[in-house]
Amino acid sequence: MNIILLGPPGAGKGTQAKHLTNTFGLKQLSTGDMLRAAIEGGSNLGKQVQLIVDAGDLVPDNIMIEMITTRITRADCAGGFILDGFPRTVLQAETLHEVLSLKKIKIDHVIALDVKLDSLLGRIRNRALEAPEDQRRQDDDEKTLKHRLSVYKEQTAPVLPYYEKLGVLKTLDGMLTPDEVSKKINEVLAE
Ligand code: AMP
Repeated sequence: MNIILLGPPGAGKGTQAKHLTNTFGLKQLSTGDMLRAAIEGGSNLGKQVQLIVDAGDLVPDNIMIEMITTRITRADCAGGFILDGFPRTVLQAETLHEVLSLKKIKIDHVIALDVKLDSLLGRIRNRALEAPEDQRRQDDDEKTLKHRLSVYKEQTAPVLPYYEKLGVLKTLDGMLTPDEVSKKINEVLAE
């Protein structure tokens, strides 16, 4: 089973991806985590993307598409994967669709977590406060977060109608508690 989780920063995609990993053994592919690991590791890719990620902008589509299409075909994804943080533009969604069709890989569910955008600042503030200091994200400060939300509205929100047109989008209330959202996700997967 392959799943795409969509939603703005702070919507709970990471938390729900972990739930899906624990419950169904699916591999979580978080593009944000991959980029942060590349930055931490000091690779060429990391150097190339650091300023972009720190500023809360989107890494260019070609880099992200290459990263995720290579990753998806690795053996540990054969039992199913969750895309968390990808696609973030319509071009990424369209290219993913083409690449997966060629590889005969099917996306079974596209789930969007719907949250009030004005509640996200508070959520992410809490995430920053709760994280141990050495794990605090550079891009979880107030100014960058506001920018990430505007990037989401402009570039990522149009991905939702893309999947809606394909008839595969399920939108869930992301304002519920994490456990309630997990339950709703389980119901969608059982349909
Ligand atoms: P996240 O952990 O998903 O919030 O991602 C953190 C940051 O990584 C984003 O603000 C972007 O700078 C970058 N990023 C992650 N995924 C993508 C993507 N699919 N396309 C472009 N940039 C991305």
